[in-house]
Amino acid sequence: MTSNTAKKQPLKIGKEQLGLLEKLCNATAVSGDEQEVRQIVLEEVKNFADDVRIDALGNVLVTKNGLGKDRLRVMLAAHMDEIGMMIVKKHDDDLFQFEIVGGIDERQLPGKAVLVGKDHLPGVIGAKPIHKTTKSERNNKIDTASLRIDLGPEIGEKVKPGDRATFATRLKVTGPSIIAKALDNRLGVATLIELLKQAPDNIDLMAAFTVQEEVGLRGARVAAYALNPDLAIAVDCTPAYDLPHWDAEDENTQYNTRLDCGPAIYVMDRATIADQRLVHLFVNTAKEANIPYQLRQPGGGGTDAGAIHRTRSGIPSISVSVPSRYAHTAAGLARIVDWENTVRLLDAALNNVTGGLLAGERRD
Ligand SMILES: [Zn+2]
Repeated sequence: MTSNTAKKQPLKIGKEQLGLLEKLCNATAVSGDEQEVRQIVLEEVKNFADDVRIDALGNVLVTKNGLGKDRLRVMLAAHMDEIGMMIVKKHDDDLFQFEIVGGIDERQLPGKAVLVGKDHLPGVIGAKPIHKTTKSERNNKIDTASLRIDLGPEIGEKVKPGDRATFATRLKVTGPSIIAKALDNRLGVATLIELLKQAPDNIDLMAAFTVQEEVGLRGARVAAYALNPDLAIAVDCTPAYDLPHWDAEDENTQYNTRLDCGPAIYVMDRATIADQRLVHLFVNTAKEANIPYQLRQPGGGGTDAGAIHRTRSGIPSISVSVPSRYAHTAAGLARIVDWENTVRLLDAALNNVTGGLLAGERRD
């Protein structure tokens, strides 16, 4: 067992962490083909783990044991996969039909630059130019089935059905913000790596870097079964819908989370009602440690917690997310300070987990 007694650097998001996030966001890991991110994770965690396993579906399961009696087994989950596209058919040498993997609004696709396959071959999702479209065509969305990824000649032979494609966006840090593709959920992956480096001794920490979340929380289900934790925390990236209303003068009060307001603690989403003892743990920890936080407003969306809490005979679960605008598009925007506060809150909450945490009343 490795010991962490000489640890406790203050948790800061600096150059090193942003460099890691850049590598993670620029990698391609569309659901079911998470290899590039898995390699980065394995490299990052190897010096901070007591045990590292890759399971049959490709989840990376990392354990860091604590010390002392009555310690709980705490699972952290962050999905490695991202939304994207899969090549399904070749037309001619240079044009490829594709399907969407995960939730993408089809209106986001035409005209976007993409990268295809493990060699990141550049292509573009072609569409009829405005010069040639009718007014009624411009008023309708274009079916994915009628779009093609165009790679140009001489490149197509390197591409085969099953290859994944992602948006070609490269991460940029701009002032206090980060713009990148796949912030959902490389922010979560990078967060788990930071937490493993600082793993507290009062718990057994089990970090699951999961596959296939974007197509139905599939990796998390088997990861939770294998790790058999006492409680679980899904760490993800949640949409910040905090823009002003552009079709009305009234204030936007329907936001689910907002930038600059800290980590989003979930109470309920489409897939999970958070365990109330864990909601209290996070809210009380944030207040004590003076870390800004927000309660994510109930509603749609879901995280790996949706599968984890229904595994085995039930696992008390909660989600904590970094807010980010423009989820599931070619480029999202998040704040560095929200990420930093998410790492700080999770670290402080893990340090506050006691053996008796789940023995208490569910309400106070
Ligand atoms: Zn996600």
